[in-house]
Amino acid sequence: MVEAWIGLGANLGDAEGSVRGALRALDGLADTTLLRASSLYATPAWGNEDQPPFVNAVACVQTTLPPLALLHALLALEQQFGRVRDPSLHWGPRMLDLDILLYADQVIDLAELTVPHPFLHQRAFVLVPLAEVAPGLVLPGRGRVQDAVMQVDPCGISRLEG
Ligand code: ATP
Ligand code: CA
Ligand code: CA
Repeated sequence: MVEAWIGLGANLGDAEGSVRGALRALDGLADTTLLRASSLYATPAWGNEDQPPFVNAVACVQTTLPPLALLHALLALEQQFGRVRDPSLHWGPRMLDLDILLYADQVIDLAELTVPHPFLHQRAFVLVPLAEVAPGLVLPGRGRVQDAVMQVDPCGISRLEG
């Protein structure tokens, strides 16, 4: 059993409903239990700003799935929630995005999977929800979440009620 942190995001369709549904679906994955989830946050689009704002959250799961099996399960879930990839559009709008942020304290550098997620430490939309539920969590090579979150701009991020 390991603990893995998942980043959730959506900005098409019922984005809030998709993120809430995805949290339930994570708990339903084979050999996987949802341990903890942050609140949902409304966040400005990052990287490619010409698109609707996002709903983001982070979650911690306990799983026996190895990293690539977990990735494939997440990609399948994205498809179930209607994700269609446009290969010509980097960081484009999506029905659901599920990224592996951390997998235990492992550093993974495969063609298909980079862990910790390469932009984790730069993204307020990940660090703000992480700081809510796991401020003391150590990001391999990057220190604690509570310190990393001070280095990013939380402008425009707001916690959703309920
Ligand atoms: P970003 O990863 O910068 O947030 P993105 O989420 O928009 O960008 P996607 O189009 O969802 O990128 O994913 C493209 C590929 O990224 C996936 O098919 C997967 O193989 C790869 N990938 C590499 N590392 C990870 C990771 N830690 N979590 C999820 N996917 C990853
Ligand atoms: Ca992503
Ligand atoms: Ca992704």
